[in-house]
Amino acid sequence: MSQMDLEQLREQVDAVNLQILSLINERASVIQEIGKIKEKQGMKRYDPLRERHMLDLLKDNNNGPLDQKTVDHIFKEIFKSALDMQEEDTRKALLVSRKKKAEDTVIDINGEKIGQGEPSFIFGPCAVESQEQVSIVAEAIGGKGLKMIRGGAYKPRTSPYDFQGLGLDGLKMLKKAADEYNLAVVSEIVTPHHLEEALDYVDVVQVGARNMQNFELLKAVGSINKPVLLKRGMAATIDEFINAAEYIIASGNSQIILCERGIRTYEKATRNTLDISAVPILKQETHLPVFVDVTHSTGRRDLLLPAAKAAIAIGADGVMAEVHPDPAVALSDAQQQMNLPQFDEYYDSLMKFMKQYEMKM
Ligand code: PEP
Ligand code: MN
Repeated sequence: MSQMDLEQLREQVDAVNLQILSLINERASVIQEIGKIKEKQGMKRYDPLRERHMLDLLKDNNNGPLDQKTVDHIFKEIFKSALDMQEEDTRKALLVSRKKKAEDTVIDINGEKIGQGEPSFIFGPCAVESQEQVSIVAEAIGGKGLKMIRGGAYKPRTSPYDFQGLGLDGLKMLKKAADEYNLAVVSEIVTPHHLEEALDYVDVVQVGARNMQNFELLKAVGSINKPVLLKRGMAATIDEFINAAEYIIASGNSQIILCERGIRTYEKATRNTLDISAVPILKQETHLPVFVDVTHSTGRRDLLLPAAKAAIAIGADGVMAEVHPDPAVALSDAQQQMNLPQFDEYYDSLMKFMKQYEMKM
């Protein structure tokens, strides 16, 4: 074979490659049209019978020289790429996505505009333990001119023998303390059954990490007219987190605050690993406000301040941290809550930090 022949054959291969490229792209366009129809009709994207039919048709018409196994392999890859493309198209169409709504969602809680560029703060004890306990913390929060208090009344605990929370009574105590200092109540609800009774006492419904994929709960909080603070599951990917928020918005409630609270990794130096890069990713991918819970992510009092600074510097819309009048005797999370003097110092340092870097306050 002469050099000329080789060149000619290579040119032929190039031309065939271009034809294949044009044909698979033509196929992709048709698949996109099919995807739109399927979406409208609520049909499943993957249809194994249809795929079997296509493979059989190829087999019946394969005159070689490629063997059938190779042809199957190539076409399965083509089929898969088309499915992936359809999935990517639907991901872009999520109601929580920036592509669907470019402007930031701003949530008004008790006059505080969350998601408007100035960081907000949610402080309060891990769990509501008594009227006195929450009133003391509420006074400290109110004294700083802050607008929200947190406190768990239904506590999802690892051990069934640990303190499970005061339930509705706890919510009533928290609401009473909050009302005294004009604070909005943020509290976790763990089952749709508690939702209705809780709504009289809660201004922001928290869905905890352990319930991030409790789809019935997500649908239930999606049907209420109050903001929802959705925490990232401890082993959830960002994509799963975003889809959990989609359940809420798809049920009709767009007042969602996402909360990064650390994920489980092999690292033992902190309780969880704070995935700080999740903040800008969530801000890019969705239009929802993003909070960082520095308490449950780090699980260390000495890291609450640096983690909050990092959260604000990277663009979080707010920070959550736990405060207890006497953490040493707290009924849950005793190691990581701040006492009142620590809280004062923490908040002052954070304000100084924000002033120093001329951040919006
Ligand atoms: C909480 O905020 O009270 C809590 C239990 O946190 P998480 O769901 O993030 O573990
Ligand atoms: Mn806690």
